Amino acid sequence: MYLDYNLLEKCYKCGACYDLCPSCLNLPGYDPRKVIGDILADNYEHWLNSESIWQCLECHHCLEICYQHYGFENAMTALRTLASKRGLTPQQVKRGWDMFVRTGKLGEPQSSARKRLGLPQAAESGKDSFLKLFKIYQDSKGVKT
Ligand code: SF4
Ligand code: SF4
Repeated sequence: MYLDYNLLEKCYKCGACYDLCPSCLNLPGYDPRKVIGDILADNYEHWLNSESIWQCLECHHCLEICYQHYGFENAMTALRTLASKRGLTPQQVKRGWDMFVRTGKLGEPQSSARKRLGLPQAAESGKDSFLKLFKIYQDSKGVKT
């Protein structure tokens, strides 16, 4: 797992992002500092099975505000990557990924709900362009479909 421990150390001591991280503000138990503390103590294995590491929205607010251009999302991303390599990706994340590579979308807009809320029909997703690009990427990596 690649992480800059000097930056992590400073991040652990700082904690300024808690007031703007939507997951910290809304999800009880979501606590990047605890995760970072455990990484620094080389005691992070238990996080690989935790739903917490998948609750980062990757909104990048913590990256944008960070005085050291870091962002505590890096710790969450590193653990998610490691969990995926070990086959510990949660089923709902896998389902979302499968849908994304098949359709270029993470969900279907519900026309009836949009109508009820007075919203216009959703714009086209750009799915065809995405699928073409994704195919080029897969070919370049030798991924078999
Ligand atoms: S990217 Fe940063 S601010 Fe956004 S949810 Fe993840 S940890 Fe919180
Ligand atoms: S990401 Fe930056 S601003 Fe946020 S807690 Fe860590 S060091 Fe502080």
